[in-house]
Parts: sequence; structure tokens; C-alpha cells
Amino acid sequence: MTSRPIDMVQPITGPLVDTFGRIADDLRVSVTDRCNFRCTYCMPAEGLPWLPKSEILTFEELVRVIGLFVSLGVKEIKLTGGEPTVRAQLPKLVGMIREAYPDLAMSMTTNGLLLDRLAQPLAEAGLDRVTISCDSLMRHRFEEMTRRDALDRVMQGMQAAEKAGLTPIKLNCVVIAGTNEGEVVDFARFVRETGYEVRFIEYMPLDAEQHWERAKVVSSAQIVDAIDSVFPLIAEGEGNEPATTFRFADGAPGAVGVIASVTEPFCDTCNRLRLTAEGQLRACLFAMSEVDVRGPLRAGASTDELEQLVRAHVWAKWEGHKINHPDFQRPERSMSMIGG
Ligand code: SAM
Repeated sequence: MTSRPIDMVQPITGPLVDTFGRIADDLRVSVTDRCNFRCTYCMPAEGLPWLPKSEILTFEELVRVIGLFVSLGVKEIKLTGGEPTVRAQLPKLVGMIREAYPDLAMSMTTNGLLLDRLAQPLAEAGLDRVTISCDSLMRHRFEEMTRRDALDRVMQGMQAAEKAGLTPIKLNCVVIAGTNEGEVVDFARFVRETGYEVRFIEYMPLDAEQHWERAKVVSSAQIVDAIDSVFPLIAEGEGNEPATTFRFADGAPGAVGVIASVTEPFCDTCNRLRLTAEGQLRACLFAMSEVDVRGPLRAGASTDELEQLVRAHVWAKWEGHKINHPDFQRPERSMSMIGG
């Protein structure tokens, strides 16, 4: 873990920093809590009680809040959800953000279902790239995991994203023991053919139905070993990304990443913040507290007041989540309500 800085006074200028010296410059922005998939490890089959529209930040509010974070040093945002593409007029929102902040890196995490028609308008509006979630390359297993028979359309979505220039394309794949763990080498083969990067995510205790158990976690080390024995891998240098990335030793295109949130937490280098669809700021996926940005925003708070609110919340960020401690407690929100 990082050590606490000697000067423990919360700065009132400069980047967003916490008491462990970590700088937060990456913001995940959830634009809706709704989703058109029902992934078993995320949401119940019947969905969740959706937020009423009046509780969701409007496009104008989102642009203002994102602007606040940009002025505080955020360099990159990722639009997420729920499923961001189900938010009406998403290309319009992307265009508004791009017009206001031309240099901001802006990507989106999506299940890919609607990309066949949205990839081009989103690219034209100024989105830089997409990460597409895909847990299986087999139709029946894809349906089993997402509760939607939609692998073909998601594949078409990947192609549409590539054609629209939303590259480099990354795939997110949650690996669950006894379900899709046998497919990791197939995914490696797929990215060698397509040039995409697949990022294997360890299953986290953030599913709404609370079916998570440690025995279902496939460790990143196991995943890397399985692929390396068929397609030897070379590790890339570590950056701020939570994913540890590997290239193929034989020079084939594509890349493999692993996100070891459970077996090797990366809290000491975490630079992320999350804004929920209804404008609550969270400094950690597993945070037990959040700060309400929407309330003061709608009550007419000045930019200075909002800045102080955000600075204080980031400053108080805990050292790290406690997945591996006996006293671990799940946050009340599940993944789709936070914005993964
Ligand atoms: N709907 C979009 C999507 O499918 O990418 C964005 C939101 S989704 C919540 C973001 C990511 O969180 C997806 O890649 C999903 O697989 C992942 N996710 C959801 N629940 C998870 C869990 N319990 N453990 C690990 N990853 C999870």
C-alpha cells in the first residue's frame, strides 16, 4: 500500500488527491441504471427497480459535472451504466461532451447489442473507442450468461465499432468457474485473429442476487497460465490501468489483459472515480459511502462549492477495499447500479 504523505492538509488547488497520495484522474460516468441484458453475475432475470427519469442526471447536468472534474485534472472518462446505449439520444450527449471538452479522452463500456446501429453516430459525435463485454464465443453459453440469445448481434456490433474507428477495441470477459473458464484460450485465439484486446475480469461480489462465492473466482494467474501454455505471452510494462497486459510472443496481433480485483487488488494505484446515474460520487467500486453531487447541483451550488464537496470526498478515500479480509462487507449497490 502507498504511504500517507507527511502533509495531511487537504489541498484546495491542484489535482484530486487522497490521503495516500493517489491522484484521481479517471472518471466512470454512468448514464443510466437500465440494461437490456440480464447477466447472471450482475442482475436478476426480472431486472431491478429502475430509477425514475427525474432522478437521472440530464445531459446538461452531466456536461457541467464532467466539466468540474476536467477542471480538477480528470483526463479520461468512460461512459457506462447499466447499458449506456439504452439512454435515449446518446450520440447527442457524446457530441455535447466533445464540444465542451475537445481534448478529453472519452470511451464507453457497452454490451455491444446496439452498436450495429450506434457505432457510426457515436464515432461521428466524438467518442474515441469502446470496450465491449463478451463472456462467451459460444451461442448457448452466451445466452446462459447474459440471458439473451444475442451473440451474433454483439459480434456484428464489434465489427461496426471497428468499421466506425472506435479502436483499439477491447473486450471485457468475466470468467466464472464451472461456466466459461474453458474458453479463455478460445478468446486468445479470437483476438489473435481480430487484433482486439481481451481483458479477463475476475468475478467480484457485486452481483445483485448475491450468488458470488470465492470458489467461482478464476484467478488471473490461472487464466494467464492457461493461455501461455498454448500461446506464449510477454508481459507489457505496467501503467495506471488495472489490467496487466500481455502480447503474444510470436508477434501475432491482439493482446490479453487480466483484471485481478479479487486475487491481486490494485488499490494502491487506483486512479478511478465513479459517478452513478443519479449523480452520486463513489471513490471506490466497493465504497460504503458516496457523496451526493446532484442535490447541491440542483439546489444551485456554485462551482466552488461543488469542487469542495468533490475534493473532500476524494481526500477521504479509504486505503483499499477489503475483499480479502474476514470483515468484508458488500456495498449496497450492485455493479449495474454503480456503473462498472
Ligand atoms: N452494460 C455495459 C457492459 O456490459 O459493459 C456496461 C456496464 S457493466 C456493469 C460493466 C462491466 O462490469 C461489464 O464488463 C460486466 O461484465 C462487468 N461486471 C458486472 N458484474 C460483475 C461482477 N459481479 N464481477 C465482475 N465484473 C462484473
